Amino acid sequence: MDFAPYIRDIKDFPKPGVVFKDITPLLKDPKAFQKAGEALVGLTANLKIDKVVGVDSRGFIFAPMLAEKIGAGFVTVRKSGKLPFETISESYDLEYGTGTLEIHADAIEKGDRVLIHDDVLATGGTAQAVCKLVEKLGGEVVQCNFLIELTFLKGAEKIKGYPKETLLQY
Ligand code: IMP
Repeated sequence: MDFAPYIRDIKDFPKPGVVFKDITPLLKDPKAFQKAGEALVGLTANLKIDKVVGVDSRGFIFAPMLAEKIGAGFVTVRKSGKLPFETISESYDLEYGTGTLEIHADAIEKGDRVLIHDDVLATGGTAQAVCKLVEKLGGEVVQCNFLIELTFLKGAEKIKGYPKETLLQY
C-alpha cells in the first residue's frame, strides 16, 4: 500500500518555515492505519527484541502494537517531568527548539535488545538522545524504526551507528 497520500504537509507549523508532516489522515483511515501497523512490524523481520521504546508522544501510537506483535515489553521515553519513578535524562536539539527526554531507571535491563520507534526522523536529535538513554541503562539498540524519514534533514547521520528502518522517505 502507498501511504504517501495519507500524509499531509502543514506549512509553517509549529513555526514559520517548517513544513510539518501530519500523520493524522493515515491514523483515521481504518485500512491505512492497519496496513501501516503491519508494514512497521514487517520492518522488524525476525529480530529478537526484549523492549520496544516509544518516544513521547506520537511514538506511542504504534510502539505498543509493535511490542505486542513482537512479543516484547513496551517502554516509554517521555519529555521531562512526566515520569513518576526515578529517571535518567538526556538533553537534545530539535528541528524546532531544545528539550530533555527521560526514561525510568529500571525500564531497560543490562543486555536488553531494544527497538526504538518514533513517528518521524527529522534532524535526528531526538532519536540520538533516546539511543543514549537506552545505552546508559545497558541496553543494545537493535533498530531505530520510523514511519517517516525527512532525509533532507540528515537525521540518519546522527544515528549512523544503529540499524534504521523507515516506511516513508521524503
Ligand atoms: P528530530 O529530533 O529533529 O529528529 O525530530 C523528531 C521529533 O520531532 C519526533 O519525535 C517527531 O515526532 C517530531 N517531528 C519533527 N518533525 C516532524 C514532522 O514534520 N511531523 C511530525 N513530527 C515531527
